[in-house]
Amino acid sequence: MTDNEKQDMKQQLAQFRRLTWQQRLAVASQLGDLTTIQRQMLADNASEDDALLTENYLTSYHLPEGLAATIRMNGHDYLVPMVTEEPSVIAAASYGGKMAASGDGIVTRTDTNLLMGQIVFQTVTVAEISRFVTPNEAKLLSLANQAHPSIVKYGGGARKLRVRALGEGFVSVDLFVDTGEAMGANIMNSMLEALGHHLQDVLEQHPVMSILANDGQQTLVTAAVNVPVANLAKHNAAVGLTVAKRIVAASQIAQLDVSRATTHNKGIMNGVDAVVMATGNDWRAVEASVHAYAARDGQYRGLSRWQLAGDRLVGSLTMPMHLGVVGGATASLPLAKLNQQILQVRDVATLNQLAVALGLAQNLAALRALVSEGIQQGHMQLQYRNLAVAAGATPEQVPAVVEALKTHAHPSATLAKAIVTKLNQQG
Ligand code: NDP
Repeated sequence: MTDNEKQDMKQQLAQFRRLTWQQRLAVASQLGDLTTIQRQMLADNASEDDALLTENYLTSYHLPEGLAATIRMNGHDYLVPMVTEEPSVIAAASYGGKMAASGDGIVTRTDTNLLMGQIVFQTVTVAEISRFVTPNEAKLLSLANQAHPSIVKYGGGARKLRVRALGEGFVSVDLFVDTGEAMGANIMNSMLEALGHHLQDVLEQHPVMSILANDGQQTLVTAAVNVPVANLAKHNAAVGLTVAKRIVAASQIAQLDVSRATTHNKGIMNGVDAVVMATGNDWRAVEASVHAYAARDGQYRGLSRWQLAGDRLVGSLTMPMHLGVVGGATASLPLAKLNQQILQVRDVATLNQLAVALGLAQNLAALRALVSEGIQQGHMQLQYRNLAVAAGATPEQVPAVVEALKTHAHPSATLAKAIVTKLNQQG
């Protein structure tokens, strides 16, 4: 880049949000030294509709979507759209679902589904705030509802308040809201704003902040399953019992060791995130609430537990889940709505439960593979396809590359490239 070009680039970056799409593309192309084909790829994937959804829009980034067939939950079979870039996730979810269905299927329950928000003050005591909040709770809840009246029409609304000392002089007024069929971040934030202004007048001090909490302790969902141990090993009861005992041990280890718990929970989130994304929901919110819950007693632990009960392996998974079937990106991404249609799920309670049920099925498949043939064997079968595609294989060449990779002791990206090159040379 010449000095003039560098100066020009500096100016463009300084006012990036004011640039047109063409200008943003030009900047990215120059910085990334993009070829004409690459620029065309960005343009081909861009859409005017998507440009309305995010700032500094450049293009749309697509991920593969597949279907887990099938997840039996509360006696109903669901075909579950999953969006994930990781090979083997959907196969594992389907396999876990199949094993779960070989028992009584997955049974779910929701304890409460209340979104929490916080108004945090600094220089008042819990006693001072409670003196006002406790006797006026009904009035304050009504004030919150007035900030978003339609939610009452949908059967939801502000439900309760709590005052809590956070330490170091901070006090939180917690608001709990039934957000109906929506995830409710915007509903909550408008309610908190109204309540925050009112409390500010009464307490004569400005809150430090008023914001929704992604703490999901009031949005817990439990999924449970029991599987005949023989079904864990192709109907061989003795081998199945060994596998079941190892799954129980794996579950114990995830309670004891943070390192193992982290990977245990990542496996659960492989399934959960994929359905959260497919339905246009906020997976960062889900991830934050889930991991905070996993560390609720001060140590990060595995979210699921597995035990033996007679000839059955019994598993349960409790985690926060607070999705939406209306609002947010569920409304603005056409595929999110379409996926809801495939799922045949119209209410948020069922969607929340399905995400957790899928997490449990995913966990069962992962643990079974881990303690029996090993996770890598199943994983690699699908990973070969990825290696082939990444190495530039055409769809017609992929099966041959996969077969060739399978015959090597150490399949790798370099090897995949060499195989593709050879195939290309052969014509
Ligand atoms: P919206 O405001 O888009 O959707 C909620 C709206 O849906 C309601 O206000 C209501 O609008 C309408 N609605 C229609 N039917 C129902 C029903 N049965 N129950 C409830 N509402 C209904 O989105 P949310 O408030 O749900 O917010 C979700 C978005 O907020 C997500 O995209 C998330 O990423 C984002 N977000 C997340 C944060 C976080 O997690 N920390 C922070 C900030 C934003 P009407 O009254 O007009 O009918």
